[in-house]
Amino acid sequence: MALFEVTENDKRVWREELADFLPDRIFDIHTHVYLKNMKPAPKPGAVKRTVSWPGKVAEDDSIEDLIETYRLMFPGKKVEAMIFGSTGDLGAMNRYIVECMKKSGFPGLYFSHPDEPGETVEKKIREGGFLGTKSYLSLAPSYLPAREIRIFDFFPHAQLKVLDRMGAIVMLHIPRDGRLRDPVNVAQMIEIRERYPNIRLIIAHIGRAYNRLDVGDAFDVIDRAGCGMTYDFTANCCEYAITECIRHAGPKNLLFGTDMPILRMRCRRIEENGTYINLVPPGLYGDISDDPHLREVAPEESEKITFFAYEELLALKRAAAALGLSRDDVYDIMCGNALRMIDGARESIYG
Ligand SMILES: [Zn+2]
Repeated sequence: MALFEVTENDKRVWREELADFLPDRIFDIHTHVYLKNMKPAPKPGAVKRTVSWPGKVAEDDSIEDLIETYRLMFPGKKVEAMIFGSTGDLGAMNRYIVECMKKSGFPGLYFSHPDEPGETVEKKIREGGFLGTKSYLSLAPSYLPAREIRIFDFFPHAQLKVLDRMGAIVMLHIPRDGRLRDPVNVAQMIEIRERYPNIRLIIAHIGRAYNRLDVGDAFDVIDRAGCGMTYDFTANCCEYAITECIRHAGPKNLLFGTDMPILRMRCRRIEENGTYINLVPPGLYGDISDDPHLREVAPEESEKITFFAYEELLALKRAAAALGLSRDDVYDIMCGNALRMIDGARESIYG
């Protein structure tokens, strides 16, 4: 049985809209690879700090599934990825990533916990052959309410100091309800760039600015700080956010990512009352009543819903047209920038 269905409509979108727009070589900077048994179900009554819909798309994402996903979704392209685990049994996740890096030749990031001393993180990175770290806001101390979590609560200075010395990559999913427009987030992003300039920092998902309103004045504040900032537009279908990001940071500072397995999802994302709604085919993701970000469309609409990953790329295509980007710019965003960053990190950590 196929890993997932590719419909006639998906094939049409690929053929008519994406195949020629995209370069032959693609690098996906943001993917989660893990097995089911490494992600225990949340304990009943545990405090929820994140949205629930990503868990409905896939139970796990083995390296074989990831490679098969690319074969089905990006036919004819050479696709490579930066792989890392997810929240769950971090020890097992990180061991599995080391195994998958060897198997696939893909680079990977160490999933760090904020309690680990900087020296431990360095040792784990070197032992595993990782190029840097990924962590997540839900690992911040449990006494902190979700909306009060700050970047340094899950990427502590003691770790950032060591990562700066190494010239490592840090994949940062910023916290807080205000997303990219949150001044605490922006101040701490700038602080990382200023205090730890050798860290190859990636602001994931364009700072979760999935709607126009989420952007705020962040790009202007970052411009004024003059520190530079690099982003990935993983899971971001907001043409405005992508356009503004490229306009301010430039096409050399944007990276393509998919958040696999999440972007295998079939959905069209819309903005409504300042938040996002993922429109999905009826019945495909089970009971969705517990997630305000999901809504089913009518059955006759559902065949027009394609992959979330395609919607993300269509948003890039619209932004590229609006800005008049060249094919070289699109190559940089889809591949070149990632390869340069990876070579740089490999050289400074292991060179
Ligand atoms: Zn992710």
